[in-house]
Amino acid sequence: EARAALADWSGPAETSDGTPIKLLANVADGPSARHASEEPVQGVGLFRTELCFLSATEEPSAEEQGEIYGQVLDAFGEGQYVVIRTLDAGSDKPIAFATMPGEENPALGVRGLRLSFGNPGLMDRQLDGIKLASEASGTETWVMAPMVATVAEASEFAEKVRSRGLKPGVMVEIPSAALLAHRMLEVVDFLSIGTNDLTQYTMAADRMATDLAHLTDPWQPAVLQLIAITAEAGKQTGKPVGVCGEAAADPMLACALVGMGITSLSMAARAVRPVGAQLSRVSMDTCEAAAEAALGASDPMAARDAVRALLNG
Ligand code: PEP
Ligand code: MG
Repeated sequence: EARAALADWSGPAETSDGTPIKLLANVADGPSARHASEEPVQGVGLFRTELCFLSATEEPSAEEQGEIYGQVLDAFGEGQYVVIRTLDAGSDKPIAFATMPGEENPALGVRGLRLSFGNPGLMDRQLDGIKLASEASGTETWVMAPMVATVAEASEFAEKVRSRGLKPGVMVEIPSAALLAHRMLEVVDFLSIGTNDLTQYTMAADRMATDLAHLTDPWQPAVLQLIAITAEAGKQTGKPVGVCGEAAADPMLACALVGMGITSLSMAARAVRPVGAQLSRVSMDTCEAAAEAALGASDPMAARDAVRALLNG
């Protein structure tokens, strides 16, 4: 029966009692965006721009970048939107023209927004490229920064994005950003929670370390608490708060996230239908009960068990 429901579900995503949820795709370039556009999505929730430059030896000009971003924007249109993330170079994603070489601890070093701000003009040229692409395509374009730790960073970024007529947001990947979500939303228009890094930095456990998988688990109660704080800030301000890490692709966790007040879920294209089908089978009340049960559980396994029982009940 579950398989039949999955095959039948074709969007748009909503709970069984009609609360709409935006389902979006994570993409890396034009081809992956066109592939994702064949799924029932409302656009892109995370375009990882650094993946376009993994083999580039020199920084492309604003015009050259605009061509690349345009391929993703052009895969979507009316009623859809694309969230472009500015360069998240450094750590596990070294970019020849940007990354600081020789850092002893790159995950805690000059990566993401820190790198774009520290390298004069890098951020400005990227935002100019995004503006060119956005104006040429006409697809609604949001722009967000990775690895934001302070409200001052969010504010400086927002100013640069707004001055180009685009909509600014920041990723919540560092516990400080989750704890300050309310104040972040005073200076930006939306938040997007990157649960991969938020989990890594909350649990002090390398996301790539397979022997730490019990810690790098988004069902960890401390991670869920930080997500709930962030979602609550969104509810209070009426601004969108999404999740774009791997957690969004877990159909059971997706229900709990929606119950916390998360308004969009962005994931690999292949995960969209299973998540949409699961959401269509539960009411908002059940999602809220799932959120409460997950937040109250003492460990990830207890949280999964409690949510599974509610969703099947
Ligand atoms: C995340 O950290 O959850 C995220 C979505 O960004 P990335 O996986 O690219 O670091
Ligand atoms: Mg990240």
